Amino acid sequence: MKKDKYYFKNQYPLIWQQDDFYIKIYSSTPNVATGILLTTNNSTFVIDPGDGILRDLNKDVGANSIMKISDIFISHGHHDHIGGIWSLLTYMSVLKRKESLRIYFPKGCIEIESIYKAFLDVYSKELTYKIQLIKIDKQSSFTRKSVRIKPFKVNHREPGDDGSSSVAVPSIGYKFFYDNKSICYGGDTAYCDNLAKFAKDSDLAIIEAGAEDEEKTDLHMTIAQAIQIGKTAKKYFLVHLPE
Ligand SMILES: [Zn+2]
Repeated sequence: MKKDKYYFKNQYPLIWQQDDFYIKIYSSTPNVATGILLTTNNSTFVIDPGDGILRDLNKDVGANSIMKISDIFISHGHHDHIGGIWSLLTYMSVLKRKESLRIYFPKGCIEIESIYKAFLDVYSKELTYKIQLIKIDKQSSFTRKSVRIKPFKVNHREPGDDGSSSVAVPSIGYKFFYDNKSICYGGDTAYCDNLAKFAKDSDLAIIEAGAEDEEKTDLHMTIAQAIQIGKTAKKYFLVHLPE
């Protein structure tokens, strides 16, 4: 068995579907972009709209479906998870969206608040729809369009200014429940009990394995750690693998 850390390679998109509960991961590449679409018969959500999300959605599902997106879920503010939000928001206004749009993000995520503020500075006069920012601080679940969403805290960090220590990044995962099935998306995180708890028994667990090596496991998980959690779900995808 090859032990190369890059042994696992994903071919995107990754798709999982049970009846009308559907998820498609267009991409999940560290430092480049993540982009995920989740749908049911009556809901269209986007998770972590990284760079290229508008291009991918436009090519895959087209304008009508893009306009149906009602909720965007942000795991954390790193650019490879939110870099595409500006173009998505602008596109919706150019196409004269009327329905309000909800964006969920972890409390303390200054990137989303800053982008929102800058977006309104530029477009408030012509913006055709309302954007509702929903800061997530607690782990209370809520329901949108027949999908129950349970946010949960994870433990993601980034290198500190001194180059040696690391600092915590406001970061959450989401578990989506629909029609007696569930999908757990951990976002970016080091190994943490909370992710292990919510991934367990999910119909699908989407688990990051972004650690470059064994020494840097306070930022991301190694493949072995990710598999250990993934195996407790009925099916799992490893994502965010270093390229
Ligand atoms: Zn990150």
